[in-house]
Amino acid sequence: MAHFYAKCIDCGHEAPYTATSVSCQNCGSEWRETVYDFEKLKENFPERIKNRPFGLWRYKELLPVNNPNLDLTLGEGGTPLLKASNLGLMLGIPHLYMKDERQGPTTSFKDRQAAVTIAALREAGVQEAVIASTGNVAISYSAYAARAGIKLWAFITSLVPPVKMREVALYGTQVVKVTGNYDEAKQIAAEFARERALYVDKGVRSITTVDAMKTITLEVSEQLTEILGPPDTTRDGVPETSIYRAPDWYIQSVSGGMGPVGVLKGYSELHTMGLVDKTPKIANLQAAGCAPMVHAWKEGKTVADPVRTPRTHIATLATGDPGRTYTLLRERMLAASGGTFEAVTDEEAFKAMHILAKMEGVSVEPATAVAFAGLIKMVREGQIKSTDVVVINITGHTIPVEQEVIGDNWATDVEFPLEGIDQAMPAEDGLLAALNRVTDDRYPRVAIVDDHPHVRLLIRRILQAQGKYELFEAEDGRSALKLIRGEKPDLVILDLMMPELDGFSVLDALRSDPATASIPVIVVTAQELTTKEKQRLEGQIQSLMQKGDFVSEELLDEVRSLIKE
Ligand SMILES: *Cc1c(COP(=O)(O)O)cnc(C)c1O
Ligand SMILES: [Zn+2]
Repeated sequence: MAHFYAKCIDCGHEAPYTATSVSCQNCGSEWRETVYDFEKLKENFPERIKNRPFGLWRYKELLPVNNPNLDLTLGEGGTPLLKASNLGLMLGIPHLYMKDERQGPTTSFKDRQAAVTIAALREAGVQEAVIASTGNVAISYSAYAARAGIKLWAFITSLVPPVKMREVALYGTQVVKVTGNYDEAKQIAAEFARERALYVDKGVRSITTVDAMKTITLEVSEQLTEILGPPDTTRDGVPETSIYRAPDWYIQSVSGGMGPVGVLKGYSELHTMGLVDKTPKIANLQAAGCAPMVHAWKEGKTVADPVRTPRTHIATLATGDPGRTYTLLRERMLAASGGTFEAVTDEEAFKAMHILAKMEGVSVEPATAVAFAGLIKMVREGQIKSTDVVVINITGHTIPVEQEVIGDNWATDVEFPLEGIDQAMPAEDGLLAALNRVTDDRYPRVAIVDDHPHVRLLIRRILQAQGKYELFEAEDGRSALKLIRGEKPDLVILDLMMPELDGFSVLDALRSDPATASIPVIVVTAQELTTKEKQRLEGQIQSLMQKGDFVSEELLDEVRSLIKE
């Protein structure tokens, strides 16, 4: 007896499921979803899973595969939930967590989808399959298909970076490059599969894909509860039986919308079992040049108009026609806790990619950066509050970093042998001299004054990531004055609220001394200032920034504009 069945979302017909039965026998609809024995599972779900390894198959009773095949696994799922302390501090949202899906076997969250789907296909005896892809699906499916001995045809749009295509080919997949957009590649793939009577992956309509994505929900529920403790069941609307805590927001960049559909199904199932306190709001981020879901959402439409010509460099997100997935996603979000669809430009995404790498040591692909750019935007617009618990999906690792992201001066060139250095010198000395030259230049000098070490560290990080500043720190007003008088920095970044001698007094002292009167000052403060305080600062400082409200690039822009090169 199978532990689940498929239910048609159009006519409600229930039937056993195999990967090769692609539509409802009653009405012909391709839109079905799995139903499990929630009554039985809810009795002892946490006990049942607790001694299993932390990975995707930990939740096998909620996955549409009868006998998980350990020979096929590549260690999918079980990715860490990382705290984004620096980014959180920078944005003023201390409860920011990142689900690091880069740590999947092929470095994107498509590994969940591929692991479950290929396992189900193998179970159904499928030997050859067809997919269309914006890149990452092809890579993941190829890896798992190789392990399962399934021959794969991948129809990939020519917009996909060549490095990704070559990886697909490396796994032995037949790569068909389609000169056209993703929706066209999908059509051609479907036609090819129909002619040859091959299985073709149908995205959200392939039951296995949605259930695979829902394991993100299950993992995050366990992880967040471990970090923040169990939910408060005395609060209104929280089921007494709930043991898992959900975030206030789940944020993801979307193309076809598979991730959020799966995540919502996960919460719906946990809710049916009475195990979770709530469902998060979902924030779906798209690239502005291909944002059919965002347009439809803003206009209150239930059906998205397709974008025929995507205008974005971010091929991963170039689904122009989300079809019924948008309609379903919208419906389910509104029936749960709501959420939003937002767009960001490619430039904003590239900037966010840079910020994330510098702030958190996390390098992502541009498609993922779209979610982070959206996060920054939503915090600024006040849609995300400082008390909110936020989980953002790091959907994929960067590919070799594109030039537009890091700009021109990303390396220091050292020519060797050096001009002007004694050629008779032993080689090592020459090299030393060359390296000294690299660090010898006089970099702009900046003093950071703040009584909170973590704020000093944050500002230091932001500036240091540029690699072009000599930094000094002081932790109170008195040592700040001593430092500034001694070192004569080119710029001071000053906190206002400090014990003993506060920022206002430091400013007064600096301005009344001719030696320091003209040093520019940026004030960074955590407090809302009163009118009187603002008047006190007028004419005294060059810039005022609110802590938790500035993004690293803004601080850098200020610093750059105030320091005379
Ligand atoms: C597929 C993909 C997305 C979009 O996911 P959907 O939920 O299918 O829309 C985002 N980022 C990366 C890296 C992806 O591979
Ligand atoms: Zn039906």
